[in-house]
Amino acid sequence: MANYLTLALSKGRIYKETLPLLKAAGIEPIDDPETSRKLILETTQPDVRLIIVRASDVPTYVEYGGADMGIAGKDVLLEHPKAELYEPVDLEIAQCKLMTAGRENDTARAGRLKVATKFVESTRRFYAEQGTQVDIIKLYGSMELAPLVGLADRIVDVVDTGNTLRANGLVPMEHIADISSRLVVNKASMKMKHARIQQFIDDIRIAIKAQ
Ligand code: AMP
Repeated sequence: MANYLTLALSKGRIYKETLPLLKAAGIEPIDDPETSRKLILETTQPDVRLIIVRASDVPTYVEYGGADMGIAGKDVLLEHPKAELYEPVDLEIAQCKLMTAGRENDTARAGRLKVATKFVESTRRFYAEQGTQVDIIKLYGSMELAPLVGLADRIVDVVDTGNTLRANGLVPMEHIADISSRLVVNKASMKMKHARIQQFIDDIRIAIKAQ
């Protein structure tokens, strides 16, 4: 980590929506990760670099000091409940909802509900709080398929417009959590590079307010 300030983030929606905030904070990447294969991107601020990682790996990189800071969806953070991280800023980007969904009019059920999801931890906690026993089936994508082919009765997924659910004959059912992207910070970095990180946090907060 040396004297750099390293920010971990994922390509796609989070990267696209973070760029304007970074720009307002005076930080612009020199390469475009959507076209470059580089995983470490220098920026217009010589002491700040971005690393491009899988969205679900951001908490791991930040917790263990591979990056000083990261940007991760709350959906991802909820899957890492024991991660030792600070979460000082809600960036208010990539907003959506974590929800249960299933086939319309599908209510009567004998036996335990089968729930397919990649959000195993949030799903386990949600149904435990309801006192409902369920069998959770871990998937890595295309969750909408599971109720259609009889693999599961319900799915738990992030929902934005609801178009993906509707296109597959599913309806949103219960709300589990509001999701947005958060800035997370490594605990040791927060101590060792406090002034620099606090400056970054202040700049980002101003950029969020201005948006
Ligand atoms: P939608 O059809 O607009 O409800 O979007 C649903 C799909 O888009 C989900 O299955 C996710 O794969 C993806 N998605 C939507 N919003 C987000 C988000 N904020 N973060 C991550 N994935 C999202």
